[in-house]
Amino acid sequence: MPEQPTADPATLLREHGLQVTAQRLAVLRAVANHPHGTADDIEAVVRDAIGTISRQAVYDALGTLTEKGLIRRIQPARSPARYEDRVDDNHHHLVCRTCGRTVDIDCAVGYRPCLEADADHGFTIDEAEVIYWGSCPACQEAAVAAASTDVDTISQTSTQGAP
Ligand SMILES: [Zn+2]
Ligand SMILES: [Zn+2]
Repeated sequence: MPEQPTADPATLLREHGLQVTAQRLAVLRAVANHPHGTADDIEAVVRDAIGTISRQAVYDALGTLTEKGLIRRIQPARSPARYEDRVDDNHHHLVCRTCGRTVDIDCAVGYRPCLEADADHGFTIDEAEVIYWGSCPACQEAAVAAASTDVDTISQTSTQGAP
């Protein structure tokens, strides 16, 4: 996948017919720097960057930017919506069931994967959403650590219980 040149956020906004505001710029930058962040994540980053901003203003900016196609919104099951500025390639996501860590997965078959359904039933297809679910390395390690703690506890208990 070739690297997309990072366009100037103000130019991007103008190109999409949007007025350039400090809030939209800050939200766009926050999404670019924190791919797959939730609205809460983005709000915290924007607050750090420009000071006070209402939650509603963050949601409004996220909604407008999504609607205009500057950012993409994904919503894995049981997760809050997440935002990213990697748009247009319809890439997939791999999500950790435990902590929600989300990473991009390029499709094996190239650009705009999986939009060529075998049978489209007459639909015009413009998006295919595939989410791979699993356990991230950190959560696997934590699970192994927790399991070995359990074993220790059990062996101690059985030692204590032994005659
Ligand atoms: Zn995890
Ligand atoms: Zn992504």
